[in-house]
Amino acid sequence: MSRPAGSNEFFGPIGRLRKDVALKRPVPVNTPRLDRGNERKYLLECLDTGWISSEGPFVDRFEQAMAQRVGRVHGIAVSNGTAALEVALAALRIGPGDEVILPSFTIISCAAAVIRQGAKPVVVDCRPDTWNMDVDQIRERINSRTKALMPVHIYGLPVDMDALMDLARQHDLWVVEDAAQAHGLTWRGKPCGGFGHLATFSFYPNKLVTTGEGGMVVTDDPDLDRRCRSLRNLCFKPEDRFVHDELGWNYRLTNMQAALGLAQVEQWEACVARKREMGRAYSRLLDGLDLFQRPPDRIDGADNLYWVYGLVIAKDHPLTAREAMARLAEEKIGTRPFFMPMHQQPVLRKRGLFADERLPVSEWLWEKGFYIPSGLGLDDASQHQVVKTLWRLFGNDR
Ligand SMILES: *Cc1c(COP(=O)(O)O)cnc(C)c1O
Repeated sequence: MSRPAGSNEFFGPIGRLRKDVALKRPVPVNTPRLDRGNERKYLLECLDTGWISSEGPFVDRFEQAMAQRVGRVHGIAVSNGTAALEVALAALRIGPGDEVILPSFTIISCAAAVIRQGAKPVVVDCRPDTWNMDVDQIRERINSRTKALMPVHIYGLPVDMDALMDLARQHDLWVVEDAAQAHGLTWRGKPCGGFGHLATFSFYPNKLVTTGEGGMVVTDDPDLDRRCRSLRNLCFKPEDRFVHDELGWNYRLTNMQAALGLAQVEQWEACVARKREMGRAYSRLLDGLDLFQRPPDRIDGADNLYWVYGLVIAKDHPLTAREAMARLAEEKIGTRPFFMPMHQQPVLRKRGLFADERLPVSEWLWEKGFYIPSGLGLDDASQHQVVKTLWRLFGNDR
């Protein structure tokens, strides 16, 4: 039996409101948009031509389109953003005895990439206003073993890249810039991903450009480009295919993923504009909900991209992020906690790292921070439902 026209789960036959069903649609924390451009057309081209592996023509096109977007010469597509960080550090020959300075408030991929090279991650705290790495704290951590800095742009605002690049130049350090959350973000007018000797992107479905799973390293340096290409492809020797001088990985991206990626890059401006529109709408509609610290719309040097819209519960309020998220989950509103800082990670502490580390801002963000639905597929009705629910649950809490 088919459903009568004009009916759905929430309304009875022909639009009559059913009293017994709550009018609460679940709002997932992220929904991607895949239906606005050439996604379907390019994917079908892969099927129709039989080019499905990494050998297909979309890989080159995607690499060039992405590199061009962020003002770089070379793009090296890899299987995910974590792999991109590993390839980047390996390309720089970071290894045992070396130290890499990164923010504690980030994803495990950053510290894991350092550890997998046999090097030591050294962490600094973030700023309470932008939640990004505090560049002033880097200087105190630089010593003779320091080989690289790994800035990570967090949740839609950038690291102070002028100060960071100055430090790197003074101390002759490599910079691996993690721009996984920063497609379309700029620092003083220059695209994020355009600063480090190498920069990395992720194309996971909650990122501004998605290929399902995917990542990329970008650089201007032809030697680093060659090394990254070799490392992602098992270090096959061009002139002697099955002879290997170094160990690489199979981190290749498929033509099908690149097809999706190219179609998504073509919609770059519209996606960036939509992210900003959604973020500013949240800021406007949540203004006055004083329980939460919201991200600034702009800082000196950057306009917020609102990769995700974060909320941080006021320090002096007893509510934790876990409790707030549980209450929102009961209302079918999806959320995600903020990152657990690297210096508190059981897996890293077990390795003897970060024993005496106290980084109060990162610890506060982990306890009090979470983000609300922010994906490109979020429609206005769902966003308003999120806002109304937040006001209803937390509006009288102060
Ligand atoms: C998403 C993300 C990554 C990892 O990317 P994957 O594609 O999920 O491996 C790395 N760094 C940051 C900052 C990210 O947000």
